[in-house]
Amino acid sequence: MNVPFYRHQLTAAHAEAIARVVASPMLTSGAIGREVEGLLCNYFNVPYALLVNSWTNGALACLLAMDIKPGDEVIVPAMTFIATANMVELIGGKAVFVDVDPDTLLLTPAAVKAAVTPRTKAVMPVHLYGQMVDIKALRAAIGPGVRIIEDCAHCFEGTLNGDRPGAHSDIAIFSFYATKNVTTGEGGAMITKDAALAEKLKVTRLHGMSAGAIDRFRAGAYNHWDMLQLGVKANLPDLLAALIPPQMPEIEGKLAERERLARRYETAFAGNNLIRLPKAVSGSKHARHLFVIHVPPKLRDPLMLALNGAGVGCTVNYRNVPTLTYFREKYGFAPSSFPVAETWGAGTISLPLFPGLTDQEQDHVIATLRRELDRLSASS
Ligand SMILES: *Cc1c(COP(=O)(O)O)cnc(C)c1O
Repeated sequence: MNVPFYRHQLTAAHAEAIARVVASPMLTSGAIGREVEGLLCNYFNVPYALLVNSWTNGALACLLAMDIKPGDEVIVPAMTFIATANMVELIGGKAVFVDVDPDTLLLTPAAVKAAVTPRTKAVMPVHLYGQMVDIKALRAAIGPGVRIIEDCAHCFEGTLNGDRPGAHSDIAIFSFYATKNVTTGEGGAMITKDAALAEKLKVTRLHGMSAGAIDRFRAGAYNHWDMLQLGVKANLPDLLAALIPPQMPEIEGKLAERERLARRYETAFAGNNLIRLPKAVSGSKHARHLFVIHVPPKLRDPLMLALNGAGVGCTVNYRNVPTLTYFREKYGFAPSSFPVAETWGAGTISLPLFPGLTDQEQDHVIATLRRELDRLSASS
């Protein structure tokens, strides 16, 4: 039996929404995008939402809008996808890595506070795997002078103490990449309660121009635009935005299925002393983006090979980011510089988790994993 790491759940019904855009005059950012931004404002209970063509480009637009400059410091977790740190470096800022909590793998307010310097302009907490960092406590720890940019690539549906992303930060940025819980293939969104920031984001999202295409042709007459500052090309076309409205009513049902499958894994691995799982955060509703396990590091790569050999797709989220070549060479980090990210990153495996994964498929993953882990630990 072959079990893929991921199978998307878009159907002919979602494709019809794209066909309707193709049949309309406007292919890029227009009325559909505005409608979707309204849906996101409603869902997250915020006044401003801006669609973007990736989390990555949204983060660039955000850092530009916040006027983050060469030499400025932005705190990021050592355990994340590289994009979180890379965008800070790309605009000339310094990504200041902070190790994560050994149980939850999340940034803690105390660790962030200890890394704040007079040059710190922002922190980018990552809601890793779908559990939220405590943003309210983080704000209390670092005060109002440091901007909080939530990396919500793993957490669209999650909450902490009843609060969704965006409730206590300056901005929350989502990814609609192909494997994310809500997807447009490539895409993302930024949400904020800050009116001044939202105005700036509209500009930095599109070349620093004073008006987007839809406004340039408003009322059928051409309007001149100005360039106010440097910006990126980060707007999401309506062709892709059209995939969001049909997904909104499916969100809760799909999350319930992710939760059910995650609990089946948890039950199956309970009591296995070679397998460690991230600890549940109290008060948190988990978005269940990824199901990750940790095994003894010397068994990780052979186990992944054995899983792949038995037709089971799996991946690694993530290895210790500061020890990847670019950061290691630039800042001279050693594996021991971030011991939690190092240990977790050397032993973690992500297993198939998506609505539509059948119980039979999941049972194959579980049985293969148990068998191969026993075999490898007996022979090591
Ligand atoms: C996927 C991901 C990103 C990047 O998202 P894109 O939309 O592909 O740019 C950033 N951060 C994390 C934690 C991610 O998982």
